[in-house]
Amino acid sequence: MDAQKPKRKSLAQIRLERQKRAKHNQRLNLLFICLAAVVLIMIPFLISSTVKTFRYSDKLSVVTRQLGEEKNQSLPQDEESVSQSLVASMEELQNERDTLTAQNSQAQEELASMEAQITSIQEQLAAAAPSEPENPPAAEPVQEPTAPSNTGNGKTIYLTFDDGPSYLTGQILDILDQYGIKATFFVTYTEKPEIVPCYQEIVNRGHSIGIHTASHDYDYIYSNFENFKADFMKIYTYVGDLTGVYCDLYRFPGGSMNLSGRACFMADEIRTFLSQMYCVYFDWNVTNGDGEDVTADLAYQNVMNEIEGRNTPVILMHDGEKKESTVESLPRILDTLIAQGYSFERLTTASPQIQQGVKWDT
Ligand SMILES: [Zn+2]
Repeated sequence: MDAQKPKRKSLAQIRLERQKRAKHNQRLNLLFICLAAVVLIMIPFLISSTVKTFRYSDKLSVVTRQLGEEKNQSLPQDEESVSQSLVASMEELQNERDTLTAQNSQAQEELASMEAQITSIQEQLAAAAPSEPENPPAAEPVQEPTAPSNTGNGKTIYLTFDDGPSYLTGQILDILDQYGIKATFFVTYTEKPEIVPCYQEIVNRGHSIGIHTASHDYDYIYSNFENFKADFMKIYTYVGDLTGVYCDLYRFPGGSMNLSGRACFMADEIRTFLSQMYCVYFDWNVTNGDGEDVTADLAYQNVMNEIEGRNTPVILMHDGEKKESTVESLPRILDTLIAQGYSFERLTTASPQIQQGVKWDT
């Protein structure tokens, strides 16, 4: 029975066990304290690390976000900058183009204006200056002729009278008869009963009769070929019916310079037409200036001045209305020229063809 019963511990054993437990508990407490101390020491570091981690995370996220934004924004900004630069260049080129266009337009307007002025001057020269000038030559002091020279020896003068017949034509015919001189009359259209016989009288006295114009209206005859032809045929048939002479001599109103001036667009048609009518046209290289009002002295002096040096003088005068100075100056002109040794002939188709710009006698 004693063997089955647990043995009772002795007091000493109990004390020893208590001491061991106490030591063990002390060790545990010490270990716990150490662990607690370690934990307490580590907590700030942990907190600091955590905080720093969060801060770095925040900074990183901010930086990342900024980088992303910069990345996203940098390309559009560059593209926008390039685009703005191109737009500025384009606008600059457009402005330059507009400036050049404006300058070109202005230059073309100036050129057109200059061409118009040139055309106007050419028309004035063709229509007025050579033959029946609107502006008479500048008046020069009338000088008495010096002793007759022999400058006319061997030279033939062709006297021509335009714009008649008129009430003055008979006087001119009489003067020419007195000198035994034959001339040429480029006639216009008139139905005045007292004038009409002059056409036949010109022919009867041995002068040449040629066509000038029926209307003497530059704007009409030089506006188109049909007008020119109609005007020509009116006086051509009229003279032919009156005298039996169908003229083969012609003088352009204002001179043939109109063929290179206002009538240049139909010059070929006119030349062809005159050729078909067997007409030769004649201009002049001397005038007494009676296309405008001149005194008899000035008319005389103009002829003396202009005939100087001419080898084949074709003198333009007028036997139209109000040309009394022409009648008055004619005897004096003839006296001087005869004294200088000139002879006189009427124009025929065989005469030297003095034509402006084509066969201009010097
Ligand atoms: Zn005329």
